[in-house]
Amino acid sequence: MSASKPKATPIAELLLRRISNTGPISLAEYMADCLLHPTHGYYTTRDPLGAAGDFTTAPEISQMFGELLGLCLAQAWIDQGRPVPFTLAELGPGRGTLMADILRATKAVPQFHASMQLTLVEASPALRAKQRELLSGFDITYANTAADLPDQALFLIANEFFDALPIRQFVRDPKGWRETQVGLIDDSLVLGLSQPAPIALLDHRLDDTQDGDVVEICPSSAPIIDEIARRIKSHGGAAIIIDYGDWHARGDTFQALENHKMVDPLARPGCADLTAHVDFEALSLEAQTAGAYVSAMIPQGHLLAQLGISERAEKLSTHMHGEALENHIAAFDRLTNADKMGLLFKAIAIVPKADMLPAGFTKSA
Ligand code: SAH
Repeated sequence: MSASKPKATPIAELLLRRISNTGPISLAEYMADCLLHPTHGYYTTRDPLGAAGDFTTAPEISQMFGELLGLCLAQAWIDQGRPVPFTLAELGPGRGTLMADILRATKAVPQFHASMQLTLVEASPALRAKQRELLSGFDITYANTAADLPDQALFLIANEFFDALPIRQFVRDPKGWRETQVGLIDDSLVLGLSQPAPIALLDHRLDDTQDGDVVEICPSSAPIIDEIARRIKSHGGAAIIIDYGDWHARGDTFQALENHKMVDPLARPGCADLTAHVDFEALSLEAQTAGAYVSAMIPQGHLLAQLGISERAEKLSTHMHGEALENHIAAFDRLTNADKMGLLFKAIAIVPKADMLPAGFTKSA
């Protein structure tokens, strides 16, 4: 149990009132309010990315990330017979940097831009404004959820999107599962555990867990994956999902970042980025249930190597000197090194059939 007296942020005030009126809330409810409250939410009100923000993502580190993934998606579009029209979509585009790099890299692919309908799924008005600015010159359609994506061939990218979705966290107990909740002691937010109860959603985890083990689930990922996988299965396409996480989630991965440092997730509600690791097994099962094929999970460093990041890095470096060259080498290292992002971040691809996998991905066992 940890108690923390929240600074009087607007979300803290709302949560104190809500919890004292109706009792403790789940981590999912806490995350949803903190991140996406319509007026005071973390994402709703700010651009959290980059050196001056709270965290940095792969596309913000180097243009190579988006270029390679853009060409990978364009090649998949060509391999699938160039369906026209098609949706080029991104979930949670942040500043728009990844999509800008994808669009620049694919400009020379014949008919790719002319055939695409660019659709961004973004909840934050502040980030929508940033994206419009960076992607000016492109015709953007905004969608609030994956359910609003057009019903046609879909080529989609999502980087560090699923980690931002609210999770529920449970601790196994002899009498069932106890859910991690946010409650109140005096005027302080505290983490506590509900009374134990059987949870049908976790029946499949009874075989591989013991009392005291922590398991997290992300209820909102299933409907999103279902919408994507159904479109890809019916109309063709490919979705590439990249995030930190692993196969078969276990343990407490709920965390808060502010100014690039780990902070107490309850300390300043609405002012820190809240995330949890992504369970790629759960995403894959959801896509398979919708009838699509899912690749083997692959570490980011390995995927980028397969897509030719060394060659691209070398080419870009030919006219670089001094600090620019040093930064370029450091960015390459950060994206690919197993001790940095190379191994912590993983990727999967969702396609209609096993023989349609995009470059860099391999079949699942
Ligand atoms: N993909 C970007 C940014 C990652 S940050 C990058 O790699 O740099 C997470 C992004 O997802 C932000 O744009 C945030 O506003 C958006 N987001 C978070 N939860 C969302 C939700 N439920 N629906 C739509 N967008 C969401």
